Amino acid sequence: MVAPTPRPALAGIPVYRAGRPAADPASKLSSNELPFDPLPGVLDRAVAELRHVNRYPDAGCTALTTALAGHHEVDPDRIAIGTGSVAVLYALLSAFCGPGDEVVLPWRSFEAYPIAVELTGAAGVRVPVGADGTHDLAGMAAAITPRTRAVLVCTPNNPTGPVVTADELASLVAAVPPSVLLVVDEAYVEFVTDPAAASGPDWLDRENVVVLRTFSKAHGLAALRVGYALAHAPVAEAVRKVLPPFGVSDVAQAAAIASLESLDAMGERVAAVVAERDAVVAGLRGQGWDVPQAQGNFVWLPLGAEAVEFAAAAQPLSVRAFAGEGVRVTIGLPEVNEQFLATTRRWRTGS
Ligand SMILES: *Cc1c(COP(=O)(O)O)cnc(C)c1O
Repeated sequence: MVAPTPRPALAGIPVYRAGRPAADPASKLSSNELPFDPLPGVLDRAVAELRHVNRYPDAGCTALTTALAGHHEVDPDRIAIGTGSVAVLYALLSAFCGPGDEVVLPWRSFEAYPIAVELTGAAGVRVPVGADGTHDLAGMAAAITPRTRAVLVCTPNNPTGPVVTADELASLVAAVPPSVLLVVDEAYVEFVTDPAAASGPDWLDRENVVVLRTFSKAHGLAALRVGYALAHAPVAEAVRKVLPPFGVSDVAQAAAIASLESLDAMGERVAAVVAERDAVVAGLRGQGWDVPQAQGNFVWLPLGAEAVEFAAAAQPLSVRAFAGEGVRVTIGLPEVNEQFLATTRRWRTGS
């Protein structure tokens, strides 16, 4: 008897590893979540939708699509909404890639990328980020072959922190053939303060450019699972075909719309996180750490072989260690950031 076996493509693929929880939620600095409760207006609108959970949600995400189309000044048919931008990326890659294909991606970057790529049967071609954590866009362009179906860009890069600049993205757009998707993942775009940073939506006149956005980070709605792609209409339609129907609940849709209507309140929270981020980076550099540019809501400690040991020493703070490479630490509430800086100081002084 032969038991059912998954497709061969799955054999070497790890299960996605989520950030470790902490006993005190405020100490969880391992998943780049916002440390605040949902905005009151957003919560009320979401809760109101709970009355209707006997009904399927609006499968077309009509109201949220309209809101996003207005927000980005694009036609609604250029939007595809899914249960987080990771789900949208999975759908995008499975619509365009298969066995024998290649996808060029930066590495170290978001852990979900190689998984999303390899699930399709395509091969991920990892182009190392520089010692300063920036994308090697020339190297990525050089890695494109006739088999390449997509190139992934993460700006700011998770977990290392730096942005891709507008000039760099312009060069990459010019280097990527029009038949190859250029995916610009902007999960942390709201936290970006570098005026030189690239903006994916500037390139939406290109038929191959896809921009990914999420409500999980700056909007503080990680558990509700809403993300989306902005793309050329046929690309967005392909993504909508692959995404399972009714994925995004009306609770999530209502919260996302309310959050889009509360951009001022969201902006204040983001500004508070950015101020803390910049203070943490300054504090770390003052202690002698070599911290790359931090443009998300997290900082990167390039600890190399000591990454895992540092993460253990940081407890009860939960931080994200990448063995042999470094540690990513989410910006939390001010008192928790102080605790983190005390940890890094102890680590360096050995006391
Ligand atoms: C958090 C994150 C996302 C968004 O994930 P969701 O599925 O929307 O929660 C996408 N890309 C990167 C690089 C991220 O860090």
